[in-house]
Parts: sequence; structure tokens; C-alpha cells
Amino acid sequence: MLGSGIINGLIVTAKNFVGSYHDPKRMVTVEYPEQRTVLPENYRNFPFLISENATDPMGTLRCVACQICEKECPPQCIIIEKSKDKKPDASGKPQLYPAVFGIDTSVCMSCQICVEVCPFDAIKMDQVFEIAATDRFHDLFLTREKLAKPNSYYHQIHPTEAAEVDGRLNTERKAAEEKAKAAAAAKAAAAAAKSVPVAGVADPGPASPRPATPIQPASAPAAPATSPVPKPQDEPRSSPAGEGGPANPAS
Ligand code: SF4
Ligand code: SF4
Repeated sequence: MLGSGIINGLIVTAKNFVGSYHDPKRMVTVEYPEQRTVLPENYRNFPFLISENATDPMGTLRCVACQICEKECPPQCIIIEKSKDKKPDASGKPQLYPAVFGIDTSVCMSCQICVEVCPFDAIKMDQVFEIAATDRFHDLFLTREKLAKPNSYYHQIHPTEAAEVDGRLNTERKAAEEKAKAAAAAKAAAAAAKSVPVAGVADPGPASPRPATPIQPASAPAAPATSPVPKPQDEPRSSPAGEGGPANPAS
């Protein structure tokens, strides 16, 4: 029917107009800052660094200062300086750490590339958006101390993603532990295998087989030598002695 599209559109508009007065899903305006909407889980603003322990954020950063994110950041707003020494990470393995780690959020474009390229799940996207400041160079440049936030905070803002990351990291850590245990067991077995023959040589054990083998061949040929050897020797001796064999060829 001619004009039905216009009528349907007006019906949808009227429903939304009336619903915006009583349907909570359509009441999109809130009295900020007294009221706040719940942010979607995948909302992102600027990056932050994850630390394993909230009581020691600087000592338990997952970041190992590999500088991959610094190289890959399109506007080059990440600054990292590696440490000169190593500290044990969450699994106890000695690792380098960022002596300096800064992000200039006045340049950052929230692309999340730094998150995607990090091989250690050390940097994630934050949801803080109330960052208005008057000093562009001081307040909008986030230092390592401002960027570090505990893993529990990551679970709070991105629960699904954080659970997936933790599950994967736990699996990788268990696999690494089992591999290390298997390598240690193999090393111990190899050392034990080496030590067994050394102890056998030191003991008088090998001395008994050595004489046993030469004695047997020495006695073994002696026995057969008595039966076959005397017969051929006796025969030629008896034959020339009785018949004068050797005298025939000489003559
Ligand atoms: S979100 Fe993008 S622009 Fe911002 S620091 Fe990460 S890589 Fe750089
Ligand atoms: S945040 Fe990740 S990619 Fe960036 S330096 Fe640290 S470990 Fe490397």
C-alpha cells in the first residue's frame, strides 16, 4: 500500500517516544555524575599494565620490557627502558622488567594493538574515561606507577576476557612445570645410569668374569686336543716306525 512504510516508521517513533517515559531500557539519559551507566564489558579507553599482586604492583608486573608494544604502537606513544638487573616474575623465573614505562594518552588512539602484540598478557585496555586535565604533558602522560593495576581489577572490568587469559596462563605454567619436572627426572636418570657402571668397575665384580672367560677356552681346547691330536700323531709315528714310511720317500 502506498505510504505504508511512512506509517510503520511513525509507529516505531511513537513507541520509542512513549516508552522513553516508562521503559528503563529506553531511558538512555542519566543524571551524570550522580548516576552512571554500566559500561559494556568490551568498552576500552587507554591501556594499563597488569601486576600479579596488588600489594606489590611494581615488583609483580607481568611486563618483561620486551618492547614489542613500543615498536608496534602506530603513533609511537609508548616509552620503555629495560632494567639492568632481573627480578623473579610470578612463577619465580628471573626476568627483566621495565625500569621506565610510559604512555602518552594525549597521543594514544585506543587502537589496542599494544594489547594484541604483547606475548605476556601484560598490557590490557582500561575503562577509565574521566581523565580531563589542565596540564597536557604532566597529567596525560601515564607513568609506570600510574599504569600498574592488579589482575583483580582486570577481572572486575573485563571478567570474561580475564578468566580466559588466566585459564590459558595457568595451563601454560602447568605445562612448563611438568616439562621442567620431566627434564629433571631424565637428567637424574641419566646421572644414575652413569653412576652404576662406574661402581661396577670399582668393585671386584668384573674381575670374576674376566678370568672365567679365558679359563673356559683354555680348558675347552685342551679336552678336544687329547682326543683328535693323539690319533693323527700316533698314526704317522706308528706307521713309519713299523713300515719304514719315511725311509721310502728318502730313498
Ligand atoms: S592503544 Fe594503540 S595507540 Fe594506544 S598505546 Fe596501545 S598501540 Fe599505542
Ligand atoms: S607490555 Fe608486553 S609487549 Fe610491551 S614491553 Fe611489556 S611484555 Fe613486552
